[in-house]
Amino acid sequence: MEKLSILIVGAGLAGTSLAQRLLEKQQQVTLIDSGQNNSTAIAAGIINPMVFRRMNKSWRVDDFLKEAIAYYKKLEDDLNIKLIKPLFLRRLFSSLQEKEFWEKRQYEKEYSAYLEILTAEDLNYSLTKNDFGSGRVKQAFWIEAQTYYTSQINYFESLGLLLKENFSEKDFNAEGGIYKDILYDKIIFCCGSNNGEMPYFSDIPIEKTKGQTLTISCKNLPENESLNRKTFVLPLENNTFKIGATYEWEDGSLNTTKEARELLLENFSVISDLPVEVIDQVAGIRPTVLDRRPVLGQHKIHKKLFIFNGLGAKGYLMAPTLAREMAEFLLGEGTISKEVGINRFY
Ligand SMILES: Cc1cc2nc3c(=O)[nH]c(=O)nc-3n(C[C@H](O)[C@H](O)[C@H](O)COP(=O)(O)OP(=O)(O)OC[C@H]3O[C@@H](n4cnc5c(N)ncnc54)[C@H](O)[C@@H]3O)c2cc1C
Repeated sequence: MEKLSILIVGAGLAGTSLAQRLLEKQQQVTLIDSGQNNSTAIAAGIINPMVFRRMNKSWRVDDFLKEAIAYYKKLEDDLNIKLIKPLFLRRLFSSLQEKEFWEKRQYEKEYSAYLEILTAEDLNYSLTKNDFGSGRVKQAFWIEAQTYYTSQINYFESLGLLLKENFSEKDFNAEGGIYKDILYDKIIFCCGSNNGEMPYFSDIPIEKTKGQTLTISCKNLPENESLNRKTFVLPLENNTFKIGATYEWEDGSLNTTKEARELLLENFSVISDLPVEVIDQVAGIRPTVLDRRPVLGQHKIHKKLFIFNGLGAKGYLMAPTLAREMAEFLLGEGTISKEVGINRFY
């Protein structure tokens, strides 16, 4: 196989998973990252195969999940770290209709891999508020997001493949594929929510969807399961939990706000009236696309330039498969599906 020299701008989930896939294919990879990550490292890292509102499976979950588990487990083995844990995820139904959707779905072949059959204990679950009953999701996972990001940065740095700097257009010749006097065969932009501030792909409508989470301390809340209704409640350790996240489209800043904190506590009160103490609050920005599909593909004019972005709110589920598909596309071994292709914007 021909060995290409590939520059990846952005070492978040998109950039690092693509770099891993290219290394698997013995390609020459260089990553650039400015160190201002505001999504991959901040994410809750929940992998939930379901979309609860209408009780549908997450898009392409049957493909994505298997590959994601294998990808994170391999990183655990290769880097000797703990990254992925099965998550006991309980949905507290928000309406009778939701319960009915579950009752119907649980016997469908397509859903039996993801939904436990409802039991009397689920319906009468009494450790928190429970207006309409609850159900347990199968095959949910938790990725320790901060560990993912830090371990990836350390790994690529240790191999000498990471430039810790801000990519600037003035150092770059797009036509020639030359960055700081070094010639690359292909350059992939994986800049997350910073896409609009970058040259070449700023016309691709990647929105900044701000998300805020709280870390709370709360006694007597179940610590062996993650609850979900209006907010997720992710057990951490010693009676602490992460709750969230908000979806904010008007404010692209990284400021934490009182409004978000109040909203998250109000959402939490649907689950429990137990007293809580807020220990921490963080804000991040998801790179999202209106049609909720990522964006993969080649620049319409500069043929050496590519984009892999728009991982949205479920990046940890989707990235391993899409990164492989992107790598195959770059090496001429595969095509990009229309659903995620950049051509839908050109
Ligand atoms: C609050 C919150 C909670 C979330 N929870 C979950 C969850 O539970 N499960 C889930 O699957 N997903 C979750 N997500 C979404 C997930 O984090 C994203 O899908 C994913 O991290 C996006 O990765 P990315 O690499 O595209 O972007 P980013 O992580 O933003 O990475 C982009 C990188 O590009 C670099 N960069 C940008 N511009 C430049 C430049 N000019 N020069 C050099 N480097 C540059 C930045 O430093 C950054 O490291 C959450 C997100 C948020 C904000």
